[in-house]
Amino acid sequence: MNRPKMATEKGVPSNSRVMMLLGQLERMNGDIVRQAETARQVTAKILHLIQTQEKSGKEVMSKGSSGMEVILASLESTRDVQTILNILSILTELLTVGRGRRVGVFVSKGGTGILFHTLLSASKEMPPSEELMLQLHSLLAKVGPKDRKFGVAARLSGALNVTVNLIKQNLQNPKLLLPCLQVLRVYSTNSVNAISLGKNGVVELLFKVLAPYSKKNTSLLKVALDALGALLKSKTNARRAADGGYVPILLALYADWHRNDARHRHMLIRKGLLVCLRNITNIKLGRKAFVEADGMRVLYNSSTECLPVRTLDPLVNTSSLIMRKCFPKNRLPLPTIKSAFVFQLPHVPGTGPAGRTYSQGPGGRTDPQRCSKTSQKVDDVVDESDDNDEADTENDTENEEDEKDQQSPNDDIETDLNKLHPRKGPGRPYEELRVYERFFVELSEDFQGFNFESSKSSSNTSLSSPFSSSVAPVRSPPRPIIVPTAQAFSPKHTLSLPGLPKDPQLPPPASASSPPAPLTPLQLDNIHVSKDQEKTEDSHIPTTDRRDRTLSPLGRPPTEAQTIEKDLAHVLERVSLDALDGVLPLDADEAHIGVKQDDVSVTRQIQSPLLLGGLSARRSGGGGSNWSSDCGSEGPEDEAAEGAVLEVPDTALLLPLHDPDLYVEMVKGTLSVPQYAEVAYPDYFGHVAPTFREPLLERVYGVQRAKIFQDIERLIHPNDILDKVVYDLDIPSCPVIEDDGESLKFNSQFESGNLRKAVQVRKFEYDLVLNSDINSNHYHQWFYFEVSGMKVGTTYRFNIINCEKSNSQFNYGMQALMYSVQEAISGSPRWVRTGTDICYYKNHFARSSIAAGGLKGKSYYTLTFSINFKHKDDVCYFAYHYPYTYSTLKMHLSKLEALRTPQIYLRQDVLCETLGGNGCPLLTITAMPESNSNDHICQFRNRPLIFLSARVHPGETNASWVMKGTLEFLMGSSPLANSLRESYIFKIVPMLNPDGVINGNHRCSLSGEDLNRQWQSPNLELHPTIYHTKSLLQYLAHIQRAPLVFCDYHGHSRKKNVFMYGCSVKETVWQSNISATSSDLQEDLAYRALPKILSQIAPAFSMASCSFVVERSKESTARVVVWREIGVQRSYTMESTLCGCDQGKYKGLQIGTRELEEMGAQFCVALLRLKRLTGLRNHQHLLDLESDIIGSQAKVVSSCPTTYVLDEDEPSFLEAIDYSAESNDEDLEAENERAAEVREHPDLLEQLSDSDNHRE
Ligand SMILES: [Zn+2]
Repeated sequence: MNRPKMATEKGVPSNSRVMMLLGQLERMNGDIVRQAETARQVTAKILHLIQTQEKSGKEVMSKGSSGMEVILASLESTRDVQTILNILSILTELLTVGRGRRVGVFVSKGGTGILFHTLLSASKEMPPSEELMLQLHSLLAKVGPKDRKFGVAARLSGALNVTVNLIKQNLQNPKLLLPCLQVLRVYSTNSVNAISLGKNGVVELLFKVLAPYSKKNTSLLKVALDALGALLKSKTNARRAADGGYVPILLALYADWHRNDARHRHMLIRKGLLVCLRNITNIKLGRKAFVEADGMRVLYNSSTECLPVRTLDPLVNTSSLIMRKCFPKNRLPLPTIKSAFVFQLPHVPGTGPAGRTYSQGPGGRTDPQRCSKTSQKVDDVVDESDDNDEADTENDTENEEDEKDQQSPNDDIETDLNKLHPRKGPGRPYEELRVYERFFVELSEDFQGFNFESSKSSSNTSLSSPFSSSVAPVRSPPRPIIVPTAQAFSPKHTLSLPGLPKDPQLPPPASASSPPAPLTPLQLDNIHVSKDQEKTEDSHIPTTDRRDRTLSPLGRPPTEAQTIEKDLAHVLERVSLDALDGVLPLDADEAHIGVKQDDVSVTRQIQSPLLLGGLSARRSGGGGSNWSSDCGSEGPEDEAAEGAVLEVPDTALLLPLHDPDLYVEMVKGTLSVPQYAEVAYPDYFGHVAPTFREPLLERVYGVQRAKIFQDIERLIHPNDILDKVVYDLDIPSCPVIEDDGESLKFNSQFESGNLRKAVQVRKFEYDLVLNSDINSNHYHQWFYFEVSGMKVGTTYRFNIINCEKSNSQFNYGMQALMYSVQEAISGSPRWVRTGTDICYYKNHFARSSIAAGGLKGKSYYTLTFSINFKHKDDVCYFAYHYPYTYSTLKMHLSKLEALRTPQIYLRQDVLCETLGGNGCPLLTITAMPESNSNDHICQFRNRPLIFLSARVHPGETNASWVMKGTLEFLMGSSPLANSLRESYIFKIVPMLNPDGVINGNHRCSLSGEDLNRQWQSPNLELHPTIYHTKSLLQYLAHIQRAPLVFCDYHGHSRKKNVFMYGCSVKETVWQSNISATSSDLQEDLAYRALPKILSQIAPAFSMASCSFVVERSKESTARVVVWREIGVQRSYTMESTLCGCDQGKYKGLQIGTRELEEMGAQFCVALLRLKRLTGLRNHQHLLDLESDIIGSQAKVVSSCPTTYVLDEDEPSFLEAIDYSAESNDEDLEAENERAAEVREHPDLLEQLSDSDNHRE
C-alpha cells in the first residue's frame, strides 16, 4: 500500500499493525461477548506484537493514542477467561516498562477500578482460575503503590476479602501467595483497611507465613513482614498481636535470623521483624509483652553484635528505638517534683502556676513537709500512657535541624484586628502614675545650682559630680517603692519542721537548721563600696553584721561542718601548694574584705583558707580553723599557721568592672530563699574571656546511640549500678553526703546554683537532677554547680536527667561551660566551653502530667557530656551558660559609677523591691547639658527616651552579658558614646527578675510564674518589677514621652545568632489568612530599621531570623504590651543565642561573653544610626534642637553606608517564627496528625473508639 501514512497529531502512524488491531478490538467492543473467538485472536496478536516489538508498546502508550482506553474497555466487557488473560498479559507487558508514567496513564483511565471489577467477577467462578488470580494480583501489586485511592477502591469493591481468602487457601502455594501478599501489603497501608483486615484475622494469618531462618521463599517472608508491619500500626491490631502472644514469637524469629544470617544477606527480613516489634510496642500492652519476653536483653545483645558492622545501623537504630520505648519508666529520684525550696508568697493567687502548685498537695503552704512520702502519689505519678510524640527518629544522625517550632505557625498568629491595632490610651489615671515622676528627675531638671564651668575643667572623676549614685541635687532622693511582704525574712526550704506550728509568721525554731535573723534589704542607692578601705567604711552598708553573716556558719550543726571541712582541707591543701612560702598573719577581715593589694601587680595575694573558708560556711574550716573561728574562738596565729597566701590573678586589671572584694560585699546584701552564704569562685575571681576561638563542636557519629546503650545496660546489668546519692538538697541539713573518697563531691549552694541531687550511677558516671524553679514543679534547663574530688586520667560522664525541651542546641554544637579554680589560680580565670560526647535525648524518666501541662506519657530528656579533668583535686564549676549573678550586676553597677565623667549624667535608682526583698535597679544615663542655658536645658529634657530591660528570664544569662556591653558602651568615653548620650535619655532596668537569678531559677520569679507573660496585667504584689516597669512606661505615655525604642534582652536556646522579634500589623496579617486586604493597612516600616541596621553592623546579628509577627501566645510579653498599650512602634525582644552563629564573622563559633558584650555595644551604635533616620522621618519637631548633634554624628558614621533603602526590606515571610521556647509544639503536632487522620477517614474515629484508647 502506497497510501501516505495517516499520522496522529503526535506523529504516531495510525495504520501501524498494533493500532489496526486495536481499532478492530474497539469496533468489537459493543459485541465482544458474542465474538469471543475473534477477541481472543485479536488480543493474542496484540500481545504477540507487544512482546516482540518494543515500538508497538510505545505506539499504544503514546500521547494522543486511545490504545489504553480500548484495552480497558475490552477488559471490562469481556467474560472470556482467555481474552482476559490476554489483556492482562498485554497490560503487564505495557506497564512493566516506562517507569511510573505508564502506570500513571493506566490509573488515570480508571484501570484500577476495572481490575478490581474483574477480580470480583473472577472470584465468583468456582473454582476461580488460579492463572487469572495470579495475573490480576501481579498487576494490582504493580499498580497499587502508584494509585492513591487504591486502598479505598479495594475496600469499596470488596477486593480485600477476595485477596484474603486466596491467601488463606494458598498458604502452601508460594507462586500465588507472593502476588497476593504484595497486594495485601498495599491494602494495609490504608489505616481503615488495616483495622478491617485485622478484624478478619489477617494478623494471625500473616503469622502463619512467618518462618524461622531459611534460604527459601525469602521474598515471600519479606512481603509478609511488610504487610504485617503496616497492619500493626493500628493499635487494635497491635493489641491483637500482643494478646495473641506474638511478641515472643517475633523476638524468637528475630534472634533466629540474627544468629543464622551471618553474612547479612537478609537484613530486610530482620528489619521487617523489628518494624513489627516497633509497631506493637507503640502500645502499653505491647511494651509489657516485650519486656516480659526478655525483649530488652534479646535486642540489646543482638544490637551489640551488630554495632561493629556499619551496614547494620538500621537494625541497631530500630532496636535502640524499641528498647528506649520499652525501658520501664522511672520516677525521678525525688520526693516531690516541686522545687526543693518554697517561698511564702504574700498572697497566693487562686489560679496560675503558683496557685496550682500550692494546691497540689503536700510541700506547699498547707503542708511544708517537703519530704513527705505521700507527696509521691500526688505530684509525680509515672504515667504509662502512650506517648504519641513522633520526635524519636531511628536515625542517629539527627543533625538536621528539625525545628519543630516551625510547624503550624498559623495557629498562634493574632487574627483579631482589634487586638492588632495598638490601643494607646491613658489606661490609668494620672494620680496613680504621678508617683513615678520621681524616676524622671531629668525631665524637669533645671541645673540652676550647678557650676558647669568647674565641672568642665575637672577631669578627675573622683570629684563629686552633681549626682551621686542616686541623689539628684534638686530633689530629694527617690526612694524605692517598697512592696509590703508578708514577712521580713525569706523562709528556708521548710517553714517548719514536722510537728512544729505551721504558722509562717512564727520565727523558725532555734534549731541547727534555723536561718539567721532577717536582714534588712540593701538599698542600691546607698551603694558606694569601693576597694578603698576608707570608702568602705563610709558606705551605708551595714558591714559589721553582714560580715558576721558571711562568716557565720549558717544552718549547719558543727559536726557536719567539721566533716565537710575535713574534705575541703584536703582540697585546699592542694590548691595552695604553690604559695606556701608567703604566709602572712592577716586577720580574717583583711583576708577576705580588705586585701592589701599592689595596684601594679598582676596578681593579688589572698590567704587561701580564709578566702576559701571565710566566704562560706561550708568552707569555713577550710584551712583547719574551726567552723566558729569567726566568733573568736581561735586566735589569729592559729589561722595564720594554717593559712597560706595564694597568688591569684588580679582580674581587676583586665576586667574594669570586676572587683572580688566588692563582689563579696554585694553578696552580703543579696537575699536568697535558701539563704546562700557561699560564693562560687568564678563569680569571685571573674571571667576573662579567652582569646582563642571556640568552634561549634562537631558531633561524633553514633554518640547518641552509644549513650542510650549505656543507659539500657543499667537494666541489663543491674548489678553494675551503684545508685549512690552523693548530693541531695532534699536533706536540707546536709546535702553533701559523706563518702569514702570514691565519689565526686557536688555543691550548688551559692547564688544562681541549682543542682538538686547527684547520684553516682557507675564509678565515673553521675545522674544529676536540677531543681525546679521556686514555687513551681518544672522549668529545668539552667544549671550551675560545683564539682570537686575528681581523679585525673579518667573520663567522667554527667547526665542531667530532668531536662524538658524536646531538642537542644547541645545536639548542634553547643558545649557546656566549665571553670577550673586551678586554672584560674594559675592565670586563666575563665569559663571555657567544655565536654565531649555531648548529646541530648529523651530518657526513661517519666514526666508527671502535672508538670507537662496536662499531657500524659511524656518523658524527660537527658543532657549528657563527658569530661576529662586536667587537674587533680581541682574545684570545677559547670554551667549552662556564662553565669551572671545579681551580685555581679550590683558590682558592675557600682563600678560603673567610677566611669562617670562630669559630662555623663548617671543616676541609679531602686525601682522597687522584689518579693525576695532585693532591690530592682533602674538606671538613667544621658549626657549632662552643655550649660544651664534655656536652650541646653531644653535640649537635655527633650531627648528621646530609649527604654531597655533584660534578664526577665533568669536562665538567659547571655542577656545580662549583652546588657553589660550596652552599659559599658554607654558609660564609655568614645565620641560615639558621647553622641549617643547627647541624643537620648536611656532608662534601663538591667535585671527584671533578680529573685529568679539569685535562686537559680530558669524561667520564673518567686511567684512560680514567667514574668514575661504578666505584662498585660501585672500584679503589684506578685510581679512588682513588671508592675513598676510597666508603670514607668505608662507614665511616659501619659506625659507624651513614650520611648522611641523599647527593647527587652533575652537569650534563645534553640536558635543560633542574635535576632529580634518586633510587632507589625501588616506582617501579622500577611502571615495569617485574615481576609483584610493588606492594602487597607497603613503601616510605617520603621520597626524594621533598627534590626536592619544591626544586621549591617553586628556580625552576630541575623536579619533572616527576625520576625515581626504578633502571636497570641506572646500577647502578654513586654514586646507586645509595650507596642500595643504604650504605643511604641519600635518595641522589641532581642534574642541572643546561647549556642553560636551560623552566619557572619562568627560563623561556626560558639558565642562567648566578648561577642555578647560586643553585641550590646553595637546595639548602641545602631541606635545612633537610627537617630539619623528617625530625625528625618518621625521627629521633625526635634530637628531644630538636634541639628548640631546630627551634624556631629554624621562625621562619626561617615565611614559606614549612609543610605538605607527601607523599601527593600519588604517582609519576605520565609523566616521561621519561633514559638515560645516552653511550648509543647511537638505535642500539638501529634495531636494535629491524629486529627487530620480522623478527618481523612471519618469512619476511623468510630472504629478506633473500640480500640485501645480507652484502656491505655
Ligand atoms: Zn527569654
